[in-house]
Amino acid sequence: MNITRTFNTLAVLFFTTLSVHSQTETVDLSMIYRIKQEESANSKVEDLAFWLTDYAGPRLTGSSGATRGYDIAKKKMEELGFQNVRIEAAREFNRGGWDNLKTYAAMTAPYYLNIACNPVAWTGSTDGAIKSEVVLLEIRTESDLEKYRGKLAGKIVLMIPASTAPFELSYEPLASRYTDEQLAGIARETFPAGGRRVGMPAPGGNPALLLRNKINELIKSERVAVILNNSGTYNIPRSTGAGYNSGEEEPIAELNIPMEAFQRMERLLRHDVKVEMEIEIQNKFFVSPVIYNVIGEIPGTDKNLKNEVVLLGAHLDSWHGGTGAADNASGCIVMMEALRILKSINAAPRRTIRVALWGGEEQGLYGSQGYVENYLVDPKTKEHKPDYDRFAAYFNMDNGSGRYRGIYLQQNEMARPVFEEWMKPFADLGCSTIAIRNTGGTDHQSFDRYGLPAFQFIQDPIEYGRTYHTVMDTYERLVMNDLKVNAVITASFAYNAAMRNEKLPRKP
Ligand SMILES: [Zn+2]
Repeated sequence: MNITRTFNTLAVLFFTTLSVHSQTETVDLSMIYRIKQEESANSKVEDLAFWLTDYAGPRLTGSSGATRGYDIAKKKMEELGFQNVRIEAAREFNRGGWDNLKTYAAMTAPYYLNIACNPVAWTGSTDGAIKSEVVLLEIRTESDLEKYRGKLAGKIVLMIPASTAPFELSYEPLASRYTDEQLAGIARETFPAGGRRVGMPAPGGNPALLLRNKINELIKSERVAVILNNSGTYNIPRSTGAGYNSGEEEPIAELNIPMEAFQRMERLLRHDVKVEMEIEIQNKFFVSPVIYNVIGEIPGTDKNLKNEVVLLGAHLDSWHGGTGAADNASGCIVMMEALRILKSINAAPRRTIRVALWGGEEQGLYGSQGYVENYLVDPKTKEHKPDYDRFAAYFNMDNGSGRYRGIYLQQNEMARPVFEEWMKPFADLGCSTIAIRNTGGTDHQSFDRYGLPAFQFIQDPIEYGRTYHTVMDTYERLVMNDLKVNAVITASFAYNAAMRNEKLPRKP
């Protein structure tokens, strides 16, 4: 308690001093008016949504879909009149390319059931169409492993997780917005538990991982034909990747099976009813050693400030089950649309405003990290490159399709009075909350960790929990009006950051 009081007193003194020396924040309301008018009259949000989702398709890192994504994003940036448009190498990628060419799965005994499902990324193929017996693989402790030795060759295994919560119907609405009360709660939180995004599942513990490794060894040595995973809640095959590095032996074919089909077969087997399946999976592994970012900009017009950059970013890569619409074509659409608005109204920003669509976020923020290493910080010596000091601000979007309701300060208290003024014109759109806390799990962290002012907005969760990484993450998940609001707010934040006399304050 004492420590907190002391901190608060110091903070008050510090910010009092700061406010004397810093500029008064002024927002050009006529510019906000023009930004809003441009979006309501000429929005390209739906159009960009089509090209980045249905047209590009899934954009798994290293896949041919990722390349389609890079190409169409570059083409759209050029059509919108952005300058210095380029597909730029960010860093190496050790997993390499993987495309799913064919997936067919059906239960053929005790009766026929067609199953819509997806392979786990970077897993292998079956030897053509195979028909085989399905067996339960239920390993809760290491001693269970022995029961299965010598019995799994050529079999299709239903992988029963070491611990599962039984499925229960949910009485919560599928989609939701934050209530005022919830937003007030977010504003009060100083340190959230962990860095997870709203709706993200908790990461698995280590003992489970160690056991899973032992199970993997058993499956491999037994020459299992196909592994089936229960993709769980909401009947949505979740897409995650296998641990695989380029050049290694292809992992055994593995499918995510919707809960209803998986558990039906499980119950049949537990009642000693023989279950058989027919499966054909064709996956292609290929050389794809580089992750790219797609970049475009509006150059600055002030001769002293044009080399300083306001950066807008979102990740272009996705998982392969859906078309990565909410996660994260939505962010790419908003960032491109924000720059399009500023371009269309001839905003002539003093600083350069740049959009970067990142590759490889899902595998570990690779694209944004590569950008930081290429432009801002030497990866080996950690010394700052010249652009580090010219870096004005970064704004990221990666929390689904929901409307901006405010912004996370990332503990940068110095930015609070700035954002308070910048958000005032958007209070009527429901965007007014400022949260001191960090938010994690995505690309702004690549900048924040080096002390650069990098922020992410608070977004309504909508359906993020059931959309994230699933086959349901398609065009239908996009809330177009929310994306338009977000584009307007992003455009005005970018403009304000580009026009301000000083760059945004950094954490000391
Ligand atoms: Zn994402």
